[in-house]
Amino acid sequence: MYDYSGLLELAQTLKCEIVKDFPLSAITSFKVGGPADVLAKPVSADDAIRLWRWAKQENVKVLILGKASNVLISDQGFKGLVISTGAFKKLELLPGNKIECGAGVSLSALCNFALKNSLTGLEFAYGIPGSAGGAAYMNAGAYGGEMKDVLVSCKHVEALKSDFLLGNFSGDELELSYRNSVYKNKPYLITSLTLQLKQGEASEIKAKMDDYMHRRIAKQPLEFPSGGSIFKRPPDDFAGRLIEICGLKGYSIGGAQVSEKHAGFIINTGKATSKDIKDLISFVQESVRGKTGVLLETEIVSI
Ligand SMILES: Cc1cc2nc3c(=O)[nH]c(=O)nc-3n(C[C@H](O)[C@H](O)[C@H](O)COP(=O)(O)OP(=O)(O)OC[C@H]3O[C@@H](n4cnc5c(N)ncnc54)[C@H](O)[C@@H]3O)c2cc1C
Repeated sequence: MYDYSGLLELAQTLKCEIVKDFPLSAITSFKVGGPADVLAKPVSADDAIRLWRWAKQENVKVLILGKASNVLISDQGFKGLVISTGAFKKLELLPGNKIECGAGVSLSALCNFALKNSLTGLEFAYGIPGSAGGAAYMNAGAYGGEMKDVLVSCKHVEALKSDFLLGNFSGDELELSYRNSVYKNKPYLITSLTLQLKQGEASEIKAKMDDYMHRRIAKQPLEFPSGGSIFKRPPDDFAGRLIEICGLKGYSIGGAQVSEKHAGFIINTGKATSKDIKDLISFVQESVRGKTGVLLETEIVSI
């Protein structure tokens, strides 16, 4: 393994939490994935730049992670530096019913903050187990709502060839569409988001949040580790319906299983490896393509 002593020293001067040989299965929602060489949690954009700059100079790969609820990390882990946004925790009410929040704030904490301030518009996100930054990156959505409806702008760090830029995108520049944004597969670290909400009635906001949560509990296999919906919604259809009509509900490879409760989910029944999940995804894709002609595209990010 690469010698990370220079990075560990740097992290110490930045007072940044850093762990060598970090088991990623401890933080992924699938509970699979091998170790990362190092995982660091910078507390500011400047500190993230310092860590990232070090990695670039040393030719070390960098992976940005929020709550790791939409990633499938290989059993070999990640050979490089994982920058976790977990310490970007700012949460502030701005004039005009706006909220500014750090990328590492959980969507549930963000929704509760909106509720506390009687702000409506974000209820759809309650129960999505991601971070605000991950939700902006993925344009996360549910129950007819998506981040696009409320996201006004994002501040970010951009890694250029030989330098780093602090910048922001707003409005159309964010290029938000179904599970997509301008940030997808590009060298950016979203550090914070500004959301535009509306004044509402706290009791109604709470009732909506509770309703969505109850629907999740009723329909999704939340009792097992998973990555949420594995596949994107195909045009005019649902991945779960197609998987079900192919008779794949309950089908398993190793410890990975197509959920009996919701065929759009693959669950870890206890001892799944990342490879089991990958193999099952491929098997489902081939079967559905063979029987229905539809190619299911994955929603989760494979690393
Ligand atoms: C049980 C369950 C239910 C789910 N339900 C839904 C749902 O209803 N709707 C939905 O849309 N999703 C759902 N998801 C998927 C997931 O929670 C969302 O996509 C979430 O927005 C991902 O956020 P995250 O912080 O976990 O991102 P991560 O998994 O950490 O990262 C996902 C991708 O975003 C990138 N990324 C993350 N943070 C940043 C950042 N700050 N800057 C730059 N890049 C970043 C990562 O590099 C990675 O490529 C569900 C998942 C589970 C496990």
